[in-house]
Amino acid sequence: MRIKMFTRFTRVFIVTFFISFQLQATENNMKSFEIVQETINKSPNDTRQYQVIRLANSLEVLLISDPDLKNSAASLSVPIGSMHNPDSQLGLAHYLEHMLFLGSEKYPEINQYSKFMSQNGGYTNAYTAQDKTVYGFEVNDSAFPEALDRLGDVMRAPLLDEKYAEKERHTVNAENETYVDNDMRKLYALQRYSLNPAHPMARFSTGNLTTLVDKPESILQQELEQFFEQNYSANTMKVALTSPRSLEKLQAIAVKYLTQIPNKNSTQPEITVPLLTDQQRAIEVQLKPTAELKLLQINFLVPSVKDQYMYKPGAYISRLLGSDHKGGLSDYLQNLGLTESVSAGFYGLHSEHYSQFSLTFKLTNKGLLEQDTIVASLFAYINLIKEQGVNPLQYTEQKKSLDNYFKFLPKSAGFNYVMGLSANMQHYPLADLLSYSFRLDAFKAQFINQLITYLTPDNSRLFLVSPNAVVNKDIPYYEGKYSQASIKKSRLQKWLNKAKTIQDKMILPVRNDWLPENLTLVKPEKNKKAIQLVKESGLSVWFKQSQLKEPKAMYKLHLNNALNDQSPAARIKINLLLNIINKQLSELHFVTQEAGVAFAIGSSDGLMISTSGYSDKQDELLLMLLTHLQNMQVDEQSLTLAKQELKRRLYNKKKTKAMDLGLDGFRQLVRQPAWSDETLLAAVDQVTSEQLVELSKQILSESSVRLLALGNVSPIEVLQLVAQLKVKIKIQPKPFYTIKRLQADPEQGALNYVRKSELEDDALVSLYLSAKQDEMSLAKAELMNKLLKPAFYDQIRTQEQLTYSPFTASIQVGDNVAFGLFTQSPAVGSAKLYERFEAFLDSFKKTLNEVKEEDFEEIKAAHIANYLAKPSNMKSEFSYLLNEWAQGKQEIDSKAQHVERLQSITLKDVQDYYTNLFFNKQDVQQIIVQVKGNKFKQEEVLSLTPELSVSDIDNLPK
Ligand SMILES: [Zn+2]
Repeated sequence: MRIKMFTRFTRVFIVTFFISFQLQATENNMKSFEIVQETINKSPNDTRQYQVIRLANSLEVLLISDPDLKNSAASLSVPIGSMHNPDSQLGLAHYLEHMLFLGSEKYPEINQYSKFMSQNGGYTNAYTAQDKTVYGFEVNDSAFPEALDRLGDVMRAPLLDEKYAEKERHTVNAENETYVDNDMRKLYALQRYSLNPAHPMARFSTGNLTTLVDKPESILQQELEQFFEQNYSANTMKVALTSPRSLEKLQAIAVKYLTQIPNKNSTQPEITVPLLTDQQRAIEVQLKPTAELKLLQINFLVPSVKDQYMYKPGAYISRLLGSDHKGGLSDYLQNLGLTESVSAGFYGLHSEHYSQFSLTFKLTNKGLLEQDTIVASLFAYINLIKEQGVNPLQYTEQKKSLDNYFKFLPKSAGFNYVMGLSANMQHYPLADLLSYSFRLDAFKAQFINQLITYLTPDNSRLFLVSPNAVVNKDIPYYEGKYSQASIKKSRLQKWLNKAKTIQDKMILPVRNDWLPENLTLVKPEKNKKAIQLVKESGLSVWFKQSQLKEPKAMYKLHLNNALNDQSPAARIKINLLLNIINKQLSELHFVTQEAGVAFAIGSSDGLMISTSGYSDKQDELLLMLLTHLQNMQVDEQSLTLAKQELKRRLYNKKKTKAMDLGLDGFRQLVRQPAWSDETLLAAVDQVTSEQLVELSKQILSESSVRLLALGNVSPIEVLQLVAQLKVKIKIQPKPFYTIKRLQADPEQGALNYVRKSELEDDALVSLYLSAKQDEMSLAKAELMNKLLKPAFYDQIRTQEQLTYSPFTASIQVGDNVAFGLFTQSPAVGSAKLYERFEAFLDSFKKTLNEVKEEDFEEIKAAHIANYLAKPSNMKSEFSYLLNEWAQGKQEIDSKAQHVERLQSITLKDVQDYYTNLFFNKQDVQQIIVQVKGNKFKQEEVLSLTPELSVSDIDNLPK
């Protein structure tokens, strides 16, 4: 469904690590599988059992037995992607990914595949990358055998029914159209288009109506079938399965359902054309963006170091390049006012032979004019690394961080886990499948030094995204223009000359004091529920330990106040303050993150400070952040830059994806007070640095305090922290302020909000908000959504091809529940979309009345199982509780009650709920947000009777 961009880390050859074996292929003694890998290096934190087997059809299957799971998941990867598309049908690999799941021999009915998964508490997804295509599903374990059979059947005998070709071509086209004016997509396309034109990666990959079409020499349907026949073979596929079942049982179902995939003895087409010739080095590509975006990206293609993954020379260098420490590259450029941020990465490329260093500089207006200073600074810093940076000290820091991370590896489980693993099975030795990205065996200066030699002006590839870009060509298959030119020798030399004058103004990072030292576990509490440790006027402290035995914790400190809701200027001030604080703390962000601790500062009804990661030093971090706020200074340059950024963000909204604009409109309506972007923009320039310093003082002296402490902490530690917080914050003994949410007023008629987009598509958000508070409603809406969501997707996307990504959701608005239908469409305007939504709701009424009791009970059980599943990490362990806490509930930790409510709901309850919400509409108000794009400007705007039209968000009651 989606097209994947670059993946992190170096790719590695499949080293033949496995125990060699021979299949006993005599007729009487046909072995059904062989174990090819018994031991896989895993984190000490990981208690699951792993094994890789090879089936009689040569398919390698990774089995993961995890008794804690309720759901099972499977993923299958094929080492064939967009890079392998024939020239005659660009996008074919992606189109095949779509066509595969429209029925197979044993399960011919269209869309039964995804419907089956969703009715059994799961879902499916897939993506096509340059070098592979990956499929996956998750499902309640009782349905796992049939789900696997369905996957096996698809890979054995898909119908690839021509009947659906037209529809699916349109879906692929719509998917591409979603991105045609997305600047980052365009940049990614240009990175590829600017490679050696003879290399298959230099082509368009997604596919659209003009590429996926019959031509004199090439019939789409024939090519599709042929592509599948040639490339989809058990011997090159890899599968990963995870389930609560034992390894033996997993072996049995893998054999039973996956051996049916035929082994066609496919070979992976080898691509020997070089990615770059001299013509594609030292080039500058300029792109004029749709949004007001200012970026300079500098890339260096280097020979792949995939077989050195246990030494990580690439990560060693990118860690130094991207470091945010005082005196580093990023700090130096920010102090000059040239950049907003610098990020560095080292990536494997979708060709086995290359990797890439990529540096992205977010430019200020001044930076736009002084690009050569930025590039020269980069080369100065690279020189510094060359001269002083390749040493055991830097290695030790890198190693400590990786070791800690692997030792307490957060558990990834289920769908995402197997999707990643089946993909990695295409690239890494089986024994290192789980550990490759954390292994750091030794300090190898020679490998690092060797890589640095490629970081020269001659090898650089510059990509400038700028409103002032000088462009002369259309970007093939995208909206917008670009240019490409070689960089003059004299300019390359100028960078080097200038670099010499800059180098001694920079330094390399030193020791990281945030690396954790104490990784012991605190004494477990007897009480397993969340406890309110402090309940005073203006101060509430909740605490709960984790069931996971990890030395990690999460803190949420809420400095609760109404300051941000006083006026448009107040809303702007907090935004500017946060921008500046986060910039000032960029070094702290960087070092804490490397040490395995993270923090975030955000705003809502006041200021929210969150920390997470290793429990050691987290209290220290919280206090340090408060000290920073206490001593807050704002200089004029930072303020000017923050204003520029904020204005750009507000201004660019009209150019973001129509659906995002629709959701933003929804947020504006339900979170009160709200002001229009224009009103907010007008308030930006008035803000002074004194006001921001004043605001930071006010936050510390005019707030009530809510604290939530979760994980590896003891009540005593929490109370000690509270005592220290009281020194820093003058806590106001007043009731907590909660954000006002929209209250449904059915008397008004529908609330209809129209927003203008500067892009092509329309979008529609159609919500039904109930006016009555009823704690059963959310549970009913959740279960209704389980039934409705796949049907909506099927109707709107597959049957009617109106859009690429329709979805539905139940949403809490304050104490009430809203149910929404959402989509963006390149095919029809908002009025027509609404008509189709209504037609769907009408027809689904009948479907819902025909649902069988036992099917409903099964769906309900699967949904409840998701709530009861043993959490795999702290974030999922506490997600329900965090949500309750964030809503400001008096009592938290009530997941059990929610599950009880779900259990008590009958099919009839859901049917009645449906009828009332969408048809009788008793105590229900409709909320519409329609986004009008350029394409449908001529069409009439949707209006409902009766309705309250919202033409200006400023006119809503405050
Ligand atoms: Zn797709």
